[in-house]
Amino acid sequence: MSKNLLILGGTTEATALCTHLAGTDLRATLSFAGRVERPRRQPLPQRIGGFGGAVGLADYIKNETITHVIDATHPFAAQMSNNAVTACAQTGTPLIALTRAPWEPMSGDNWIQVADMTSAATKLAMLPGQNIMLAVGRMHLGEFAGLDQHSYLLRLVDPPQTPPPFARFHAEISRGPFTHADDLTLMQRHNITVVVSKNAGGTGAYSKISAARELGAQVIMIDRPEIAPRPEVHSVPAVMDWLNAHPA
Ligand code: NAP
Repeated sequence: MSKNLLILGGTTEATALCTHLAGTDLRATLSFAGRVERPRRQPLPQRIGGFGGAVGLADYIKNETITHVIDATHPFAAQMSNNAVTACAQTGTPLIALTRAPWEPMSGDNWIQVADMTSAATKLAMLPGQNIMLAVGRMHLGEFAGLDQHSYLLRLVDPPQTPPPFARFHAEISRGPFTHADDLTLMQRHNITVVVSKNAGGTGAYSKISAARELGAQVIMIDRPEIAPRPEVHSVPAVMDWLNAHPA
């Protein structure tokens, strides 16, 4: 049987893997949740939308005769990753996660590390009025609602369909990867004193962290959620080695 891969995407790592796979004779489908209005064009066939939980994903794997699953989702997409672990165990499908190391604080950083969004909101609630770069994604803005002593800079991929739940905010509509120089300029323009960020890892979203260091801004860094144990690699060549070691 020939290989037929399912790539769970939504990241620059998934895009890099797809670009590589497009130059091989392997069959593969890239899956998006459908969160952004215009996903980047990809060189592989795509499907968009949830599977319907772990059960739905297991059905998809069986119906589409998927032989291997590569989870290249964002480190905060814990639900999808946990569903992949469950569905692959149920169907006996080899699973690998393409992941990136978390960021670590370095000299000059002023980080407060918190366990989750709720803890980040609790920290913000304790601060007197500040200019906050709230870089948590539109799905999580509601968890910071009512903290109206602050002004917010929101960076969003698409214009918000409902007004963000803040008295004072500016929505910057742009899509990464971002550069240090761009983020420095943006944060200076909005006089940012605090950045709230997920510990995404990788390079594409790091510029706000390095810019915060240069500006002396505080960073409230949200730790990654727990994900069920699964094998992980950190590069496209390592995924290819894993595929070679796992016949269909
Ligand atoms: P999540 O909470 O783990 O996922 C919620 C549900 O969305 C999943 O249970 C699944 O629905 C569906 N889903 C998620 N990723 C999918 C995919 N690649 N293909 C098909 N369905 C998917 O995930 P999230 O944090 O909302 O992130 C959604 C997507 O955005 C992910 O693909 C992720 O890689 C990307 N992303 C997330 C972040 C972030 O900060 N969370 C940042 C950048 C990109 P069903 O249960 O119905 O299958």
